[in-house]
Amino acid sequence: MAGSSSTPGGAPDTSASASASAAAAAGTAAELDARDPLRGFRDRFVGADDPSVAAYVDGNSLGRPPKALPDLYADFIRNQWGGRLIRGWDESWLELPVTLGDRIGRSTLGAAPGQTIVSDSTTVSLYKLVRAALDANPGRTEIVIDRGNFPTDRFVVQGVAHETGASIRWIDADPTTGVTADDLRPALGPSTAVVLLSHIAYRSGYVADIRGITALAHAHGALVIWDLCHSVGSVPMSLDEWGVDFATGCTYKYLNGGPGSPAFLYVRRDLIPEVRQPIWGWMGDRNPFQMAHTYHPAEGIRRFLSGTPPILGMLAMSAMLDLIEEAGIAAIRAKSLDLTDFAIALVDEQLAPLGVELSTPRDHEVRGSHITIDHPEFAGMMAGLWERGIIPDFRAPTGIRIGLSPLSTSFAEVAVVIEAVRESLVAVSPGR
Ligand SMILES: *Cc1c(COP(=O)(O)O)cnc(C)c1O
Repeated sequence: MAGSSSTPGGAPDTSASASASAAAAAGTAAELDARDPLRGFRDRFVGADDPSVAAYVDGNSLGRPPKALPDLYADFIRNQWGGRLIRGWDESWLELPVTLGDRIGRSTLGAAPGQTIVSDSTTVSLYKLVRAALDANPGRTEIVIDRGNFPTDRFVVQGVAHETGASIRWIDADPTTGVTADDLRPALGPSTAVVLLSHIAYRSGYVADIRGITALAHAHGALVIWDLCHSVGSVPMSLDEWGVDFATGCTYKYLNGGPGSPAFLYVRRDLIPEVRQPIWGWMGDRNPFQMAHTYHPAEGIRRFLSGTPPILGMLAMSAMLDLIEEAGIAAIRAKSLDLTDFAIALVDEQLAPLGVELSTPRDHEVRGSHITIDHPEFAGMMAGLWERGIIPDFRAPTGIRIGLSPLSTSFAEVAVVIEAVRESLVAVSPGR
């Protein structure tokens, strides 16, 4: 033991060159931050100046709160909830699921009004959409999903299969990328009712070809549901133009809606009158306050609502939409790629020599706003990193995921997290 770790001269050399390259990375990061046209946005988030958090690179799990929120919430509580009381429902709150949905559609989804609502969680929205799609494709009994999809997506499909007798066709895709049209093609057939895929893979960050895959599924008579949790607010989309049937996604990731903020759900305009969702509630009825005996679904996208909308949970994302609209989604995407490019360059330079593997595509076209790196020691390092205020997240079995929320993350944070991972790795595997 003693012999193996004391290679005279070797260790000091290694650490001297490592600290030189860390200093170089910090210098490059400072230059990139100075040149960043969106650099001013970072100060508009609560906690961006907190010295105890050296790098927050998990905005793709929970975005930071915009600084506008304390005033927004105080005003809502004092004047809306406190002032308008029950009258608030008629005056504006009942419309909020639709008006906010339209705004998400316009600023981020490429969706014309009347097709997007905000309600429920992503999980519940997925359930509604899978059941609605099955119901809309009678005589077909198969649901296609990939094994690499997010757990809740797979569990919802398993639950629906259990409940309805539908069967599941599993796709296996390369875990360092994601599902391609070639992966999907053999799974499609005359029994395929619905395909559920993620636009951006939660682990690798791979961006699926929504347009091509949707067209392929349509050619086989199937409907497609896209999970947009990791794309909404980070990559521009054109759902209407791409012919998307159904989509849903979280708002607490890149839309910074706060812990547990409700999901959005999109249904293509011409499908809306034809589909039926399974949770019949009064808010989805054509006339909720008639207290009728029988449910009659509302005409438009409101038919996808069920119960009373969570108004407080919808307020925060409106402040983030202000920032997204001000910056523009194209500029956000450009910075996202610069951030992930920089992270990948540092991984190649500083972590690859220690045996770390990049599990994210290098190609811009198919890379979202996070990268995942893998190493067998990572699981044991996470607690120490979080304690030091270096906050990426961990994706089992061996992945550290570095999420780069373009408006609130600096290039300096990227350099800090990569250097911290390098130091921790060296500490757990001395002699490297
Ligand atoms: C974060 C995430 C979810 C979370 O669903 P909730 O119902 O909000 O818990 C679902 N799917 C994907 C792909 C996600 O990344």
